[in-house]
Amino acid sequence: KGPDPDLVAIAERMATVKHKILVLSGKGGVGKSTFSAQLSFALADMQYQVGLLDIDICGPSIPKMLGLEGHDIHQNNFGWSPVYVEHNLAVMSIGFMLPNPDEAVIWRGPRKNGIIKQFLKDVHWGELDYLVVDAPPGTSDEHISIVQFLQETGIDGAIIVTTPQEVSLIDVRKEVNFCKKVGIPVLGVVENMSGLRQPVADVRFMRVSETGEEREDTEWALEYIRQNAPELLNLVACTEVFDSSRGGAARMCAEMGVPFLGKVPMDPQLGKASEGGRSCFTDQKCGVSAPALKRIIAKF
Ligand code: ADP
Repeated sequence: KGPDPDLVAIAERMATVKHKILVLSGKGGVGKSTFSAQLSFALADMQYQVGLLDIDICGPSIPKMLGLEGHDIHQNNFGWSPVYVEHNLAVMSIGFMLPNPDEAVIWRGPRKNGIIKQFLKDVHWGELDYLVVDAPPGTSDEHISIVQFLQETGIDGAIIVTTPQEVSLIDVRKEVNFCKKVGIPVLGVVENMSGLRQPVADVRFMRVSETGEEREDTEWALEYIRQNAPELLNLVACTEVFDSSRGGAARMCAEMGVPFLGKVPMDPQLGKASEGGRSCFTDQKCGVSAPALKRIIAKF
């Protein structure tokens, strides 16, 4: 029996891709797609040729996070043409193929397997320095497919995104073990939403009555600060939202022998930038999260 023609076609496509990075998470909602999107923006800013492939088939959020909602994909002589954010940042997602973004994708394993194969075989990325693959949470059909299809050409490694809570870390351990089992190096773990950081000037101040009713009094509070202690407005308010007294992701990484890449705070401005399809690195307002993300990206 000869070599599988699909795997041969994938290997041919991937021959022009220098590095392949998988972005994983144990749970949904921890910021995996946000990280994939901002990583891609950062690599493109560094003048690399970047492709971002969204294989989160049931919840594709990459089109929105790259500001590409409503685009669809076209065929050209070389295959499916990805959607370009910039000349050096190309994106492919199942989201581009759905008639409307609220459409539910209810597919069984073989169909998911089929579309991932097609993405790898038919998308004309051209020369890429990096292909960033945004995977769904957990370890499911999509993960097995991508690993199987890229086996021949190799995956450089996986980045695992988590939040600091123990319930999230338990699932990260599973993710690390999955990588070990299928032989993908873990490039490291990112702890996202690691404490809330907000410049005092952006905080909303509430008065809470005895019955628990809230009334906003931000104007009064800021005026009071301006009059009495204006230097407070230069400070950043920090709230440890989740209990990370047990050491969070850093300790888990030490226990499991994988690199800890760093912490990204919960930053409402990062949420806004990513939901608005913008890079946090060119957004003046993302002062508390963009530097943290930059430091992490500089590590690999
Ligand atoms: P996942 O891909 O893990 O499901 P998302 O990247 O979709 O998670 O993020 C979930 C939500 O949290 C999004 O609304 C996103 O904008 C927001 N978010 C992610 N990371 C942060 C952060 N560090 N600070 C504030 N909001 C964030």
